[in-house]
Amino acid sequence: MIIAVDFDGTIVENRYPEIGAERPFAIETLKMLNAERHRLVLWTCREGKLLDDALEWCRERGVEFYAANRDYPEETTDNNPHFSRKLKADLFIDDRNVGGLPDWGTIYRMVSRGKKWHHLIDEAYEGQKDYGDPSSRHRRPWYRFW
Ligand SMILES: [Mg+2]
Repeated sequence: MIIAVDFDGTIVENRYPEIGAERPFAIETLKMLNAERHRLVLWTCREGKLLDDALEWCRERGVEFYAANRDYPEETTDNNPHFSRKLKADLFIDDRNVGGLPDWGTIYRMVSRGKKWHHLIDEAYEGQKDYGDPSSRHRRPWYRFW
C-alpha cells in the first residue's frame, strides 16, 4: 500500500518548526511497515530546510521515505500534467484524522492486518456474554447497524 504519513504531531510531538520527541513506537512501526514493503510517503507542511531536517531525523533512525509531499520522487508540475496537491495514497496517517490519531501499536494492527475501527472495537467486546443482545448495555455499538 501507499501510505502517506504526517510528521509533526504524528511521528513526533508537534513542536513545529522544531522537531518534537518521537511519539512512542512511531519509528519502530514505520520500519516494520517499510519491511512489509509498504510505500511510505512523508506528507507534511514542511518545505525546504524544515522538510530536509524532518527527512534527516527519520533517516538517522532508520526510516526512509519513498517520496515527500509528492506521489513519486521525481514528480513535478512540469512532468505530471495531472499533478495535484492531493497524494494518491491508499491510507493517510495524520494527527488530524477524524477521531484523532490512534497509538502506533493500533496503527500497525490496522494497517498490517487490514483492520478498521469497528474490528478493533468488536475484538475488545468479544467474549462478553450478552454482546450483540440489543437490550444489553453491552449491545453492539451503533456503527455496527449500518
Ligand atoms: Mg500534524
